[in-house]
Amino acid sequence: MNYDKALAHNIFQVIGSTADEMGVEAYVIGGFVRDYFLKRDSKKDIDIVAVGSGIQLAEKVARKLKGRPEVTVFKNFGTAMIRHGQLELEFVGARKESYQKDSRKPVVEDGTLEDDQNRRDFTINALALSLNAKSFGELLDPFDGRIDLDKKILRTPLDPDITFSDDPLRMMRGVRFAAQLDFTIELKSLQSITQNKERIAIVSKERIVEELHKILLTEKPSNGLGLLHKTGLLQLILPELTNLQGIDEVEGQRHKDNFWHTLEVVDNIAQMTDNLWLRWAALLHDIGKARTKRFDKKIGWTFHAHEFVGSKMVYKLFRRLHMPLNDKMKYVQKLVLMSSRPVILSEEHVTDSAVRRLVFDAGDHVDDLMTLCEADITTKNLKKQRKYKNNFKMVRQKIVEVEERDRIRNFQPPISGEEIMKTFDLRPSKEIGIIKEAIKEAILDGVIPNEHEAAYQLMLSEGKKLGLKAIAS
Ligand code: ATP
Ligand code: MG
Repeated sequence: MNYDKALAHNIFQVIGSTADEMGVEAYVIGGFVRDYFLKRDSKKDIDIVAVGSGIQLAEKVARKLKGRPEVTVFKNFGTAMIRHGQLELEFVGARKESYQKDSRKPVVEDGTLEDDQNRRDFTINALALSLNAKSFGELLDPFDGRIDLDKKILRTPLDPDITFSDDPLRMMRGVRFAAQLDFTIELKSLQSITQNKERIAIVSKERIVEELHKILLTEKPSNGLGLLHKTGLLQLILPELTNLQGIDEVEGQRHKDNFWHTLEVVDNIAQMTDNLWLRWAALLHDIGKARTKRFDKKIGWTFHAHEFVGSKMVYKLFRRLHMPLNDKMKYVQKLVLMSSRPVILSEEHVTDSAVRRLVFDAGDHVDDLMTLCEADITTKNLKKQRKYKNNFKMVRQKIVEVEERDRIRNFQPPISGEEIMKTFDLRPSKEIGIIKEAIKEAILDGVIPNEHEAAYQLMLSEGKKLGLKAIAS
């Protein structure tokens, strides 16, 4: 079979003829070929392998392209990259790899195409299409990757124990591909992941997180997370989650399994949003429950303050995984911390002041918080489900009403500290804080509207209470 249809883009002709001039073989390999056969969105990053110098091929190709794009050379990796329009072309020389036990960075030597295919992670990622004129579009598929694509199977080219032990990142990639493509990991490869799971320790946290992000961004993240769990990888990379497993029973009272519940919540939220960090918040929203679990004879199982404990754990987890400790982390912490607030609120009669406080505390994240709470509904009791959903709908409505009237989101006090100082002829002092706080509380409680005049009057009366005298204006 000839697959030159996959190579309709003019760039492949250019690369092929350049390789012919140099007298080397060139192939397009990996994700691009795989995704062509899967009819996935045509890929923007294209991997080219040359049996010879990839860098030299890149440089010669660049000279022939319009605008003479720059070639970025990564000498240490023996690779070169060209941006051409939308495309990102990555060139590498065919190589043979050998690994040492303690590192996933191989010792590299020049090799044949076959050597290069041997070092690939999965048979479906080892497919290569020839670019040289005499064999343009010919498929080189030594491991029957094409059949695995049809069968939707992930399988390593070599003995999986070698492939996974050499570079344990491939275990994460395997789970990620299974989740993204809705493929099954072949039994032997799956067992080998379980066998080699401890090797994940030599993979950098950053690479692990990159794969976790991709798993979380799939349509049904529980597929990937479930595989991580099944192979034992999850226990090693996110023990906070696996610690949520299990159901205890005391005096006939049981609580739900918070691990499987969490996976359901993540699946729910994946239907509602593509916001990666909101998905992280869903994943971590209950992590404080393992440590706060108690049985109370009167009320049954409790997880007192688990939101607070959980939000502290978010920081530690991010730090351990070398994730940036930035506003994204704070966002996840905040959502975890507040994750029960709308629930408590919706269980009672929803008062305006409770809604104002919710909006005040959540700020711009209040909608995301509501989304998290809606995703958190996993009861199988349809009547309860409907009731909870309706309650949250009411809370959302109230938020809109209150917001229109009181503008609490990104609250700016209607009276500034400066105005207070001027009115009472004060220097910076604790009285100013007391008056500001009183005004804020009165607005949140609905005692006064969020307006200057009302706040001004309150300032005067609060000042009087503190023994302050307003100077005539
Ligand atoms: P995507 O870009 O959608 O994540 P991809 O298959 O293109 O998928 P890349 O990370 O871009 O993945 O890698 C390109 C190719 O390089 C892969 O198809 C695979 O053949 C090979 N590859 C990448 N990482 C590894 C690895 N850790 N071990 C073995 N082969 C790898
Ligand atoms: Mg790629």
